[in-house]
Amino acid sequence: MDFQYNETTQALQHRLQDFMDRLVLPHHRQWHDLAERGVHPTQLIDDLKALAKDEGLWNLFLPALRPDEPGTRLTNLEYAPLAEIMGRLHWSSEVFNCSAPDTGNMELLHLFATPAQRERYLLPLLHGAIRSTFAMTEPDVASSDATNIQTTIRPSGDGYVVNGRKWFTTGAIHPHCRFAIVMGVCDDGRERAAHQRHSMVLVPLDTPGVQILRNIPIMHHLAVDGHCEVLFRDVHVGPEALLGEEGAGFALAQARLGPGRIHHCMRTIGQCELALDLMGERALERRAFGKRLADQANIRDWIAESRIEIDQARLLVLRAADRIDREGNRAARVDVSAIKVLAGRLQTRVLDRAMQVFGAMGLTSDTPLSFLWTWGRALRFVDGPDEVHLGVVAKSELARIQQRTGANTPYYTPPRDVSRD
Ligand SMILES: Cc1cc2nc3c(=O)[nH]c(=O)nc-3n(C[C@H](O)[C@H](O)[C@H](O)COP(=O)(O)OP(=O)(O)OC[C@H]3O[C@@H](n4cnc5c(N)ncnc54)[C@H](O)[C@@H]3O)c2cc1C
Repeated sequence: MDFQYNETTQALQHRLQDFMDRLVLPHHRQWHDLAERGVHPTQLIDDLKALAKDEGLWNLFLPALRPDEPGTRLTNLEYAPLAEIMGRLHWSSEVFNCSAPDTGNMELLHLFATPAQRERYLLPLLHGAIRSTFAMTEPDVASSDATNIQTTIRPSGDGYVVNGRKWFTTGAIHPHCRFAIVMGVCDDGRERAAHQRHSMVLVPLDTPGVQILRNIPIMHHLAVDGHCEVLFRDVHVGPEALLGEEGAGFALAQARLGPGRIHHCMRTIGQCELALDLMGERALERRAFGKRLADQANIRDWIAESRIEIDQARLLVLRAADRIDREGNRAARVDVSAIKVLAGRLQTRVLDRAMQVFGAMGLTSDTPLSFLWTWGRALRFVDGPDEVHLGVVAKSELARIQQRTGANTPYYTPPRDVSRD
């Protein structure tokens, strides 16, 4: 077990941080000013994307690139500390073509796209020429159970017809967003098992019948790229729109949520580090009742606890990333679920402490704290609610314990049945 990042990672950490300091952070105010005026900062981001690509800081997240695909071919373990650096500034991942939901969509297309889908969708995504969205969750059903999804994908002579309503479709109003990966139930009249009833289709957003109804504010924060409610009404797509096999939608949804799930957790570590830094700075400079806030015992405890908890989470993220690299997504399922639960909770806890140290200012948009708290809260739903992930961990633990039933008997002394003496 080696706790050092390897040389490749250290060199990239240095280059990425340098790029952030030189070229991205100086534009943060401009990004905010534009976003606040309701102008999407597309041009600003596109210019930075071109620079990042030139410097080879591009597609840092995808290990399995083919020779003709641009990117760094890092392992997940190597990528984790880089995602942490990007995570400190919530809009910066896009500059390096590493933002959700594209990362998950690219992973999925990498695994399942036909050559034609690869040309039309994957390569433009890998080059950062377009963006995409993922439409699974629906307002009318409990979508944490993907077998509930009821949007219909009906075969018609020349392809499929999609009908349904989705929401929390992240990124749908990004000016470069060109298509959605839509999950729906195969409406072909055949009897199918619960996990083989769904398919996924690639739907260009300019197809007649696709309508973006609204951008849903998340606890009063309106994302510039949108978390949207989208209507699909009699949307015709050709046979080439089908991703993978008919009825394989559930398996595809599972495959999509491998590394993509821990990218959020990696960014959480960066966001919590930022909150801890801000909390510490504020505590050192602010005085109340004759001493610095940093001299109050409770605030020292919050700082220490945050340090310990962030380091603990980082180690778990790295272990999950390493297991994905060495043993694959499936073998790392439980590790990914565990860190998913931990990350959202950590983020709200650390951010809550930081907001408290900042006083009322902590709740305003003058600091990133309240936005980051909100994102931490959202993380407890994104890619499945905590309870589903806890279920995955519990199932695995109980299976392990069941296999060893009786092995612990020597460690305790059950009450003796005296009636038998
Ligand atoms: C900011 C944000 C962005 C998102 N982006 C996307 C996106 O891009 N694409 C997309 O398709 N979706 C997206 N989502 C939606 C997200 O994936 C869903 O909210 C999540 O899967 C839960 O589905 P649901 O909201 O329908 O909750 P439900 O399924 O209705 O669940 C409600 C509650 O029931 C409980 N519950 C559910 N299952 C269990 C269980 N097995 N055991 C115990 N309790 C349980 C949990 O407490 C859960 O919170 C996003 C959500 C947010 C907040």
